[in-house]
Amino acid sequence: MSVLEIKDLQVAVKLAEGELKPILSGVNLTIRAGETHAIMGPNGSGKSTLAYSIAGHPKYQITGGSVTLDGHNVLEMTVDERARAGLFLAMQYPVEVPGVSVANFLRTAKTAIDGEAPKLRTWAKELKDAMAAVQMDPAFAQRNVNEGFSGGEKKRHEIVQLELLKPKMAILDETDSGLDIDALRVVSEGINRVKERGETGLLLITHYTRILRYVKPDFVHVFVGGRIVEQGGPELAEHLEAKGYERFLPTGV
Ligand code: ADP
Ligand code: MG
Ligand code: MG
Repeated sequence: MSVLEIKDLQVAVKLAEGELKPILSGVNLTIRAGETHAIMGPNGSGKSTLAYSIAGHPKYQITGGSVTLDGHNVLEMTVDERARAGLFLAMQYPVEVPGVSVANFLRTAKTAIDGEAPKLRTWAKELKDAMAAVQMDPAFAQRNVNEGFSGGEKKRHEIVQLELLKPKMAILDETDSGLDIDALRVVSEGINRVKERGETGLLLITHYTRILRYVKPDFVHVFVGGRIVEQGGPELAEHLEAKGYERFLPTGV
């Protein structure tokens, strides 16, 4: 069983002037395959910074701590190596990939991760089924990745990736934001299918509690000021829904 271990992770963002602005101040988190964790926190607390750091985004500099996947140092891997190692990141703001169709993108990613091309006949069916499962028009397979996609279509496409690529660890950054109620349900059902397979460790990063009504996390972590300030079970999400983040904020802010 895979395990992602984040220990005392400290990260600064590289500003244009070459300065470093510290954002993460010692994050500790262990996620095992089959577990679902939720990180919840106010805007600007550093949730996306955590996701980008694990993904290897060049804007973020690791200033301390470690991230390992099954004992392997993730922080020394290139972005491609991280994907091949089984890490998957769905970004808060997915990027467009001009000139690359959804079908080609997924096949290339699958080939890179598995080390061999998927069998043509079964792959075509898998892709078709995964798209149908999130109610995506089959025509999307021929469109360029995220180009002109609505917010909801981008998130559905991410769930298609998640289902087909079968990562060991998936980090979903605000997958629920900007979704209408139907898209939220479809996307949540997709996450639940992956959850029920029990092979992937899931980290749901969210500002709102609403997705957690559809996807039940095993663990909830409250994230404030660049670190986890409280941990609990699903009841913690209910507490946040009722009371907000106020009691976790430093006084005077
Ligand atoms: P969250 O996802 O919790 O809303 P972020 O990780 O996006 O928080 O941001 C945390 C803090 O880091 C914020 O104060 C934000 O302005 C700052 N920050 C993040 N990325 C950058 C960046 N590329 N340049 C400058 N500041 C950044
Ligand atoms: Mg934000
Ligand atoms: Mg964010």
